[in-house]
Amino acid sequence: MALVCGAGGFIGHHLVKRLKREGWEVCGVDLKYPEFEATAADEFVIGDLREAGLCRMLVKPGSRVFQLAADMGGAGYVFTGENDAVIMHNSATINLNMLEACRVKGVEQVFFSSSACVYPAYNQEDAAHPVCEEGSAYPADPDSEYGWEKLFSERMYFAYARNFGIKVKVARFHNIFGPLGTWQGGREKAPAAICRKVAAAEAGGELEIWGDGEQTRSFLYIDECLEGVFRLMASEFSGPVNIGSEEMVTINELAAMVMEIAGKELSIVHCDGPLGVRGRNSDNRLLAEKLGWKPAAPLCEGLRSTYAWIREQVRARES
Ligand code: NAD
Repeated sequence: MALVCGAGGFIGHHLVKRLKREGWEVCGVDLKYPEFEATAADEFVIGDLREAGLCRMLVKPGSRVFQLAADMGGAGYVFTGENDAVIMHNSATINLNMLEACRVKGVEQVFFSSSACVYPAYNQEDAAHPVCEEGSAYPADPDSEYGWEKLFSERMYFAYARNFGIKVKVARFHNIFGPLGTWQGGREKAPAAICRKVAAAEAGGELEIWGDGEQTRSFLYIDECLEGVFRLMASEFSGPVNIGSEEMVTINELAAMVMEIAGKELSIVHCDGPLGVRGRNSDNRLLAEKLGWKPAAPLCEGLRSTYAWIREQVRARES
């Protein structure tokens, strides 16, 4: 049996679907149901993982746990500073509770979704050459409290592994995107925000981009993210390991790709906004070495299906 924490969220919902396709009995838990379609889980518990009692109740002996629940969002949520205390408190409490429940109940293994946000800001100032090799996370200097919480929790998972013999798996996700993800409201990430803005714009209109658009990122399509998670779970490697794409683009290039997919020429207007680090890219050398696999699909492929889905959402909102 598999327990998916955060099963109402973007990655958790897709993970539940994949687990079901592979024949697992799945229990999902979240504060909310998935927003855009019904869950595929056999059982779905609406509950708050900040409550230790709930965590203990949900974790079954010998089960496989996927801990993806976190207080999280894109740059507009994580980098303004206004949400720092709640992000740290909520996510750390969830991880403390879940790990302790895993220890008490005895699980087969537990997966924790960490983030590229653990990497030091000082290694990501050069947009063209960011350093995100796993070992470079130390000396630590993440650019957000969200990243610090992930780093603390990573350490806690490995401490539980060392001291209590729990089998843990830790992946550092790099900007996962795809259909059925948050696309409006302030917690959406760059690909979804740009798809929404392009879909909503009149032909010949404007497209607002935060900063000068020369900041770099890579974006991984949800299906490949899950492939990485499944391969990590099947391996003997614990991590931490990057699960991301190595196809680094500037945000201006990302916008150009979306405009091309949409068949719309918009003029880009740069404006002030929360930005995060100057450059970030996944380094997949360890992933390839340990799992004999790395993501290969081109960014434009995933963007095409994501744009099509977001365009439908925008149309439904406008009608
Ligand atoms: P998401 O926000 O869509 O999903 C997280 C889910 O956790 C939400 O549905 C939320 O309601 C739930 N949750 C939050 N607090 C809870 C609580 N107290 N009790 C129960 N549920 C709670 O985010 P996502 O994009 O699906 O990300 C999943 C995981 O992957 C997160 O841990 C995130 O930090 C990590 N991650 C994601 C990305 C990305 O690009 N999406 C990148 C790096 C790391």
